Amino acid sequence: MSAHPAAPAFVADVMLGRLARTLRMLGYDTSYRSDATDDDIKLAAVREGRVVLTRDRQIAETRLPIRVVLVRDDRVADQIRQVVRELGLAPDGGLFTRCVVCNSLVADVPREEVRDRVPPYVFATQNRFARCPGCGRTYWSATHVERARRWLREALGGDTAAHEGGGAAPARPGALPRKNVLLTGRPGVGKTTLLNAVLRSLRIDARGFVTREILERGRRVGFSITDLRGPTGVLARVDLESPHRVGRYGVNRGDIERIGIPALDDATAHARLIVMDEIGRMELCSPAFQSAVLRALDSPAWVLGTIQDRSNRFLDSIRARDDVELVRITVENRESARGRVLSLLTRLSEGGGGGAGE
Ligand SMILES: [Zn+2]
Repeated sequence: MSAHPAAPAFVADVMLGRLARTLRMLGYDTSYRSDATDDDIKLAAVREGRVVLTRDRQIAETRLPIRVVLVRDDRVADQIRQVVRELGLAPDGGLFTRCVVCNSLVADVPREEVRDRVPPYVFATQNRFARCPGCGRTYWSATHVERARRWLREALGGDTAAHEGGGAAPARPGALPRKNVLLTGRPGVGKTTLLNAVLRSLRIDARGFVTREILERGRRVGFSITDLRGPTGVLARVDLESPHRVGRYGVNRGDIERIGIPALDDATAHARLIVMDEIGRMELCSPAFQSAVLRALDSPAWVLGTIQDRSNRFLDSIRARDDVELVRITVENRESARGRVLSLLTRLSEGGGGGAGE
């Protein structure tokens, strides 16, 4: 079943979510949890014989009898190149044999079985489907296998050329498709209006959360947070007592975690498009919410969101990701931006990535 019978298995530290996801995409058994401690990681290495992948020098300097790769670079393409070279891997045989979300090996399923689980366009145009027994996701190959192969060839600087059948298109510079589309710009410029217009045009299964102003007698007194499936709560209010204050608002961490986290986790598990409106300082009062945002961005599902135009460690790290397409909205470009965002997201209908199975 495994495409890499003699290959090492890995455990990646919390900084290396994208590397873990990419290794799974290549077929490698890769254990990763965003809340794993250093001890969890070392334990997995000792008990399960996994190679540790880490950015942390302290983990790398362990005296335990385990193999550790100290990952040097920030870009996932450079990270993959380092791992492939240091361990002498031949990574092009196992593409999409493993679920990138939960690490289970996927199994082929008859086409008829997925009729109700994938979009009609995909069903009509694809012949091979696979299902993850761990989380239920349905995968299909479409154009992204070739795209991933090209990306890999580019990342390895020709190391896999000998294994390729030849005749493939020349490599496109850059990384995997930027599947996380985030709108940014000044408050009031129309990010949310644009997001709503795009969602109406796309008419696909979108889930997630939105935040809106709470108005009383025409004055803004706070913000609500709503799960697109229905439940709603208070994100922040001027009159709310809270240890977390942003501007004149007291932030309601309880409702962020009660409404926002389940909305994101449900969308990450089931939706084709994850909606996050918005990722901003108020929401970030909750570390658990930050983790849910990262799970969504790391997942194979596409994201359409808005991100606050401010500097902050977490927001900066999201903007710097190589799977994020940041679209800056201004008064001048907001009409044309709508077309651009739509064309970025209509790649969804090409089946790029993986569908959601129930
Ligand atoms: Zn899975």
